[in-house]
Amino acid sequence: MRALSFGALCALVACGGPGDSDVDGGLGDGMGPDAPPGCTRPALAAPWLRSQLTGDLGQLAAAPRATVSQRNTARTYLAAQLQAIGLAPMTQDYPGGTNVYATIPATMGGTAKEIIVGAHFDTVTGSPGANDNASGSVVVLAIARYLVDVPCRSAPVTVALFDQEETGLFGARAFAQARVVANVRAVHTIDQVAWDSDGDHRFEIESPTPALEAEWRAAAQVVGVPVTATTTQGTDHEAFRDRGYAAVGLTEEYVGGDTSPYRHLAGDTPATVNVDYLVLAAQLTAQVVIAEVSE
Ligand SMILES: [Zn+2]
Repeated sequence: MRALSFGALCALVACGGPGDSDVDGGLGDGMGPDAPPGCTRPALAAPWLRSQLTGDLGQLAAAPRATVSQRNTARTYLAAQLQAIGLAPMTQDYPGGTNVYATIPATMGGTAKEIIVGAHFDTVTGSPGANDNASGSVVVLAIARYLVDVPCRSAPVTVALFDQEETGLFGARAFAQARVVANVRAVHTIDQVAWDSDGDHRFEIESPTPALEAEWRAAAQVVGVPVTATTTQGTDHEAFRDRGYAAVGLTEEYVGGDTSPYRHLAGDTPATVNVDYLVLAAQLTAQVVIAEVSE
């Protein structure tokens, strides 16, 4: 299935959907003038993006998400948002916690491998975790909403919100264990993407495979942001890499030093995040995933 060109795939199936009318030629016209009829992608600069990101971030980061009941509240909110965009949220219980996720199926049939996009929603005790990691969680929700508007999708995409990263990557480890490595093309995890005090718009991609690094660099060119590859581990992508998945993380300049001083503190609130940079994180991630489902 992957050997077929995007155009050939579209010729085999009925491609069409709510994104058809978008013929924007600027940032966000993912396909350009050569897009097959009915397969034009939605604009990365979607009019809803900023308000959705800030709205979800404000709701999630209204309180810490460390205790069982706090995490339940957050999980209920996340599931409701997935449901609101037409998906069927599912939960995965494991000893100690519960992940929430949903799969956006391919529109083209075939046997293309699954793509996973995830972020942890929990926090340490006492921190509302706007940057760590409501920011990554709201990007995952935005990716889900983008994808349902992509009319031609060659691969299924699972969006996942992981529990208990802060106490030992437990949610991501449980999720990685439950999936099958051979059926997954790529795992992208997002953690802390709303701090950019030097205003350079630079992101770090953590421990990518060569192929995934190339994908993220290509997407960064489209979006117009600089990226640096690092060897950082210690967050959700490590849980997948440990089990043999092709995995990569997206973050702010954690190694570069332009990273939130409020990490794990009470001051990690919506008032201290950089919304412009958060929007870029969502656009960059969307470009990566949309390119993957357009092969
Ligand atoms: Zn984190």
